Amino acid sequence: MDLSHFKCLKCGACCRQEGYVRLEKNEADIIAGFLSMDVLNFIETFTMLTKDRSGLSLIEKENGDCIFLTDAGCRINAVKPRQCLEFPVKWKFKDFENICAWAATALKKTKRLKT
Ligand code: SF4
Ligand code: SF4
Repeated sequence: MDLSHFKCLKCGACCRQEGYVRLEKNEADIIAGFLSMDVLNFIETFTMLTKDRSGLSLIEKENGDCIFLTDAGCRINAVKPRQCLEFPVKWKFKDFENICAWAATALKKTKRLKT
């Protein structure tokens, strides 16, 4: 799928998918600062060590949503991790077209143009 015109519609579906939301170097400090939290408290409260112990990931709610997903969108949108910023343009996510609201809209437009 051509993502050159991608524009996030903020449906939140990608924030409900299984899998790590990994934090890169300094991202814990940045997000903790945004939340006015001590970084160690932030790490204890909102992150977990990945299974391979290579880094930290944001935790999920019981229903599998990202811990920072709210009804109004991402609670840390201004400082969200690079992994989130780069979705889906720099990802190879096989179910992308089935979950992303923008992709569904783009596919409908393509079908209309072909008929
Ligand atoms: S940090 Fe924000 S954008 Fe990233 S998965 Fe969580 S809710 Fe979604
Ligand atoms: S699934 Fe697509 S449209 Fe929805 S929030 Fe994620 S990137 Fe944006």
